[in-house]
Parts: sequence; C-alpha cells; structure tokens
Amino acid sequence: MPSPPTVTPLLVAELLVEGERMPVCVHVIDHPDGRVLVDTGMPEVHPSVADMDPRLIPLSEQDLDLASIDFVVNTHLHFDHCGGNRLFAGTPIYVQRRELEDARSEEDYTIPEWVDAPGVGYVPVDGELEVLPGVRLVPAPGHTPGSQVIVVEMDERPVVIVGDTAVWSGELDEPSTVGQRLVRALDPELAWLAHEREPWRPRTG
Ligand SMILES: [Zn+2]
Repeated sequence: MPSPPTVTPLLVAELLVEGERMPVCVHVIDHPDGRVLVDTGMPEVHPSVADMDPRLIPLSEQDLDLASIDFVVNTHLHFDHCGGNRLFAGTPIYVQRRELEDARSEEDYTIPEWVDAPGVGYVPVDGELEVLPGVRLVPAPGHTPGSQVIVVEMDERPVVIVGDTAVWSGELDEPSTVGQRLVRALDPELAWLAHEREPWRPRTG
C-alpha cells in the first residue's frame, strides 16, 4: 500500500488586523501521484493593503522548489490567497468557477491584477472534483460564495484544508455557515486553516 499523502503548512506572511498579527499560511500536499500547492499567499505589498503592515516570507525564499508543484488550488481569490499565483504561470490553477467570476466582476473583492497576472491560467471547477486519487475539491460557501475546501483522504479520517471557510478555529467548534458545517460533517482528523498556525481538531469526549 502506498504511503498516505502529507500536508505541510508554510507561513508566508503576517498581517496586522485589529492590532494583532494574523498569520497567512499556504499548504503543500505531497501525494504519491503529485505535489499540490493550496493558495499562494502574497509575495509583495500592494498599496491598497499597506495599512495591514504585511511582513512577508515569500514562497520564493522558502525551502520549496516552486518548479516541483504540479498544480495549484485556490480556496478562494482574496488577495492574501492568490497573490503568488503569478509565480505559477503555465501551471494549472484550480478554482471554483463562481469564485473566479466574482473575483473578476465584484468591486473591492480582491486585487484584480494579482488574480489575472500575466501567464496565469485557471481551471474553473463546477462543484466537486477529484484532482488526485483521494484528493477532492469540495465547494464550501460561507466566507465567499465560491469558496472551496480540499479533502485529503488518509488511512483513517481525512485531513481538510479549509482556507478561510473558518478564519479562526472557534468557528469550527460552533459552525454557522454551509461550508463550516460541511467541514464538520466530513469528521476530519484535523483541519488546516489559512490564518492559524496550529490545525483545528475536533474535541473528543
Ligand atoms: Zn484570508
């Protein structure tokens, strides 16, 4: 039996939000059939978000060979999740079609030139999609209508990468959106959030 996939968080930025430092993490899935990057952080400061005093740890300076990434998945297209997409020109980037349409049409949704940077090519997805054996994209509306989570099947319970479907762990303890309830219904061993350093785990007992 092949070894199960692994999910590794990488801290790529810290933003100042309401006086506190909020981490921005991306996640690497190492699967026997491919290597996937979930979200791409923000490699530079854009004037429109300079008030968040971003501290950046760019992907290009991390212990990660960008050329080793087979494809990228965006949980959603807010600026702190898609800023590094331009580093992956020519690499397929999977995103829900609804999310892509909203990011391209709604005002103040994101930083448009980060979404459609030169050479960036999207694979718009309608609903669930298995991208590798046991790795599924699943729509999870809530944080944005077009958000998706990534479900990684393990030997027992799955690991879920939720992006901002929960911005902090407490939201999964008391789920209030369709997406949060979906994550709970998957009964994961743990869930990785984009803005928490430690994964959420369901309480036992
Ligand atoms: Zn975010």
